[in-house]
Amino acid sequence: MFHVVTVLTSLRNWGILPPMSPRPGKDAHPIQLLDLTRQELDELLARWGEPRYRAGQLWRWLYRELAADFAALSNLPQPLRARLAAETSCRPLEWVEDLVSRDRRTRKALFRLADGETVETVLMLYEQRQTVCISTQVGCAIGCPFCATGWSGFVRNLTPGEIVAQALYYARRLREEETREKAAGQGVPSPSSLVSRHPPLTNVVVMGMGEPLANYEATWQALEALNDAQGFALGARHMTLSTAGLVPGIERMSQEKLQVGLAVSLHAPTDRLRNRLVPLNRRYPLAELMAACHRYVERSGRRVTFEYALLQGINDSDQQAEQLAGLLHRLLCHVNLIPVNPVQGSPYQPSSRPRAQSFLRVLQQTGIAATVRLRRGLDIEAGCGQLRQRQAKGDDNGQHPDDR
Ligand code: SAH
Ligand code: SF4
Repeated sequence: MFHVVTVLTSLRNWGILPPMSPRPGKDAHPIQLLDLTRQELDELLARWGEPRYRAGQLWRWLYRELAADFAALSNLPQPLRARLAAETSCRPLEWVEDLVSRDRRTRKALFRLADGETVETVLMLYEQRQTVCISTQVGCAIGCPFCATGWSGFVRNLTPGEIVAQALYYARRLREEETREKAAGQGVPSPSSLVSRHPPLTNVVVMGMGEPLANYEATWQALEALNDAQGFALGARHMTLSTAGLVPGIERMSQEKLQVGLAVSLHAPTDRLRNRLVPLNRRYPLAELMAACHRYVERSGRRVTFEYALLQGINDSDQQAEQLAGLLHRLLCHVNLIPVNPVQGSPYQPSSRPRAQSFLRVLQQTGIAATVRLRRGLDIEAGCGQLRQRQAKGDDNGQHPDDR
């Protein structure tokens, strides 16, 4: 018995099992529509005695028309709209705050959940792409020492609806902005000029707060909902999931029909260093992780992206670049080198530009595809979990970053 309790507790602590407390938000609104799969929505409306096609109409309203309230659902009969409004909700997130970077190309939203917890979502606008970065947990159990989310510990898993609603929020915002721009007669094409197409976002990356593979079911359900052809219709090739290296999750992902891109947060070329920087490595060391990555490539035919945060004097020497090249030998992959985003109170500093370039050169000389990626939105602390950390400590001076 003792063993069972210990194992369950440690699985919960790692975020592999949900916490003991009941799922929040359920009391206020017994049915969260965005928590339902397409099939569950069919079943709900069948129970309510509605004709079969109604569920399809409602799904379309939620995922294609991006309706944010029931009043907008003009082709549904009034009694059904009233029942939906009385018994269900389609808004699991309450918007709290938006931050916009000085160049206006990176935005970050903070949302409050029904139980008062908060999560962040980031939008990055490029010339031809609109990428939203979504969170899957409140906090994270893995505790990487350079990560603001890791510092706050694990609180709870997000529900599928709380995950999917983050992407829908920015899709809706982009579409509204384009409609406003058009109405105002602005002929200048904006970076978001693709939004008249559906979906208004071109990419979803699961790289926000939390370890997505430790909340596998909810994350996958959210990605499947976004992929559904009658709804949001975002292709799997436009989705990427980042993991700290939860090997069973990678194995499971490799078997899925939905071939979502895999990014692995490597950050160190040896077990000794990775045990420190990504503590999950003690459970799933590099040999096991690399074997799982090879299997993913074999089964999916897709390359793996490795994230490597460059930490000055810790993991950024030429010798470590050679070790990394050795580790990735013969694997179809790409390495993203990211000078670490300094987190308040953390001793880790980003590598200098010349150091990053030298590290990059070593990788490229050994034939490894690699790039140095500059972190976007540094002025709005667009790194994982930083806004939430600042809010929790109450040191937000309430100013828009552009005004500082
Ligand atoms: N838990 C998952 C996904 C969320 S974190 C994972 O770790 O992969 C998304 C990415 O941001 C990861 O590669 C993570 O290591 C990186 N990251 C976290 N804090 C960072 C920081 N301060 N600077 C640079 N990258 C950071
Ligand atoms: Fe968790 Fe990822 Fe942050 Fe590590 S980097 S603490 S795994 S969110």
